[in-house]
Amino acid sequence: DDPMEQFMEVQKTSETNKMENLVRSINKKLTDPNQCGICMRTLSCKSALQMHYRTHTGERPFRCKICGRAFTTKGNLKTHMGVHRAKPPVRMLHQCPICHKQFTNALVLQQHVRMHSSADT
Ligand SMILES: [Zn+2]
Ligand SMILES: [Zn+2]
Ligand SMILES: [Zn+2]
Repeated sequence: DDPMEQFMEVQKTSETNKMENLVRSINKKLTDPNQCGICMRTLSCKSALQMHYRTHTGERPFRCKICGRAFTTKGNLKTHMGVHRAKPPVRMLHQCPICHKQFTNALVLQQHVRMHSSADT
């Protein structure tokens, strides 16, 4: 499993699907289920069509939780995650060397580490 998966957010409700249904109900000439009702382009499959519709809606349902950037496809988001893999996000850097618990704040970590040393003595 990809450890970066936890930082990837997928939007479930889609404006693109709503628009596709609307276009389809208006444009009765659409005979091919994989045809775009806006530019009349025919795509290879259903998922390719959905991805294509997003280019019309501008919707980006795949979001990076670390920096907030959004992408049209999961592949694009996965490629983007490589940026964070190479250079871990700042909030990941505050890690306790004893129990490996992670902290968002360096000061909180300092207090936490102190707690370990006082427990040992
Ligand atoms: Zn189109
Ligand atoms: Zn990011
Ligand atoms: Zn600790």
